[in-house]
Amino acid sequence: MSKPHIIILGCNFAGLTTARYIHAAVKDSAKITIIDRKSLLTFVPNIPIQVLANINPAIDLQYRFISFLEHDGSAFIQAEVTTIDPDTNTVYYQPNERAGHPIRKIQYDYLVVALGNRLAYDHIEGFEAYGHSVTDTFLGNRLRNYLHQEYKGGPIAITSAIFHQGKSEKLPPNLPVAQTACEGPPVELAFSMAHWLEKNKKGNAGTVYLSTPAKVIAEDAGETILHQLLPMMDKMGYHYQANTQGIKKVHKDGVEFIDGSSQEAEVTILFPDWQAHQFLKELPFTDDMGFVITDLYMRNPDYPNIFAVGDAASITVPKIGSLGHMEAEVLANTLAQELKLIKGPIKPMEFELLCMGDMGGIKGFYMRTNEWWGGKETHLEMGVTPYALKMGFKQMYYTLGGKIPHWGLALSEVMGDHTIL
Ligand SMILES: Cc1cc2nc3c(=O)[nH]c(=O)nc-3n(C[C@H](O)[C@H](O)[C@H](O)COP(=O)(O)OP(=O)(O)OC[C@H]3O[C@@H](n4cnc5c(N)ncnc54)[C@H](O)[C@@H]3O)c2cc1C
Repeated sequence: MSKPHIIILGCNFAGLTTARYIHAAVKDSAKITIIDRKSLLTFVPNIPIQVLANINPAIDLQYRFISFLEHDGSAFIQAEVTTIDPDTNTVYYQPNERAGHPIRKIQYDYLVVALGNRLAYDHIEGFEAYGHSVTDTFLGNRLRNYLHQEYKGGPIAITSAIFHQGKSEKLPPNLPVAQTACEGPPVELAFSMAHWLEKNKKGNAGTVYLSTPAKVIAEDAGETILHQLLPMMDKMGYHYQANTQGIKKVHKDGVEFIDGSSQEAEVTILFPDWQAHQFLKELPFTDDMGFVITDLYMRNPDYPNIFAVGDAASITVPKIGSLGHMEAEVLANTLAQELKLIKGPIKPMEFELLCMGDMGGIKGFYMRTNEWWGGKETHLEMGVTPYALKMGFKQMYYTLGGKIPHWGLALSEVMGDHTIL
């Protein structure tokens, strides 16, 4: 009998880790194919560090992964996925190394959607000319050039657009609803930017204007952490504004918010709405915003051979890589159970925010909490250890080709929770 074919769409954090975990869990019992439009993984979380260090982020943060997939015996196709037909188990794709390819099709027995999201900068008026960000190496390098070549020391606004979280009665009940997609990066950037401003004698925390459309920034960090973090940032001199309701427009001299207020700025750094890819919005296994519906085992309830992980999955809120990582592990076990390689029960997804951010000056912060989901874990640490953990994670990820061992995260938690340095 031929082996079942598992196709994974997307090969950044969620896709690569899932591909490697699935291979480890199912070994030779399945054929695995991964499709992505690019053959390099972008190590997004470290872009701000490179920007402030005046290094083009594309140099070190675009990671070649194909040899790891080859080593596993998995196939990689570089192509644009154009659509999926869930009724005939078909993925349509167009190889994109050179223009002119016809659209091809490939059949799956199991499909994993790890295609991330589109970041809707094109919905922000004025962004093209006056907005900055750090969500990919192009934008990172653009900001790096501005900061290091043109910046005169004026106010720096850091803000987010409203996030439109998907809804569906088929999703697990009682999931919290977020007003922003991912507010760890704005907080991290505020810290590291203040250090950069001081070091370059261009300003300090008081030069940074941090704002959020929500009633509080980084709400998913939970109340206990926010009660420590926000007074501390206030004491350090940061300007902070909540309830902007979102971004109306960016212009040469700053940003206008939907609530009618505005912020003067020489540099405006924005985090847009994280939206589902257009073709997913039209498919019958996505929520009202186009995010893929799954249960807590990462499986779609209507199409039990379709799964999703990472930012593309509806239950991944906030849109952070550490949730995608946990989901990858759950999904690999779900598939191994499906293929009768694991006997007995497996664990469903248990939500927890794990975030390690740079604060500049070889210091970082570490947050681990499940309070937003109703749990009791809440840890906030700052110092050299969280910075070392952040940099160590990248090294480990590159060395192991995205297959962080089970003890890797547990070790980070022990070190992070008990930061003494
Ligand atoms: C500045 C910044 C800092 C961050 N820091 C952290 C952090 O410290 N910790 C943390 O946990 N998270 C962090 N995050 C969030 C984290 O980067 C994302 O959650 C993570 O990258 C999502 O991974 P993903 O694989 O689901 O999606 P993506 O990284 O978006 O990958 C999707 C993949 O799908 C491919 N793709 C998309 N559409 C198609 C198509 N049609 N055809 C073919 N291929 C396609 C893309 O090429 C890409 O490789 C940060 C985010 C930002 C912006």
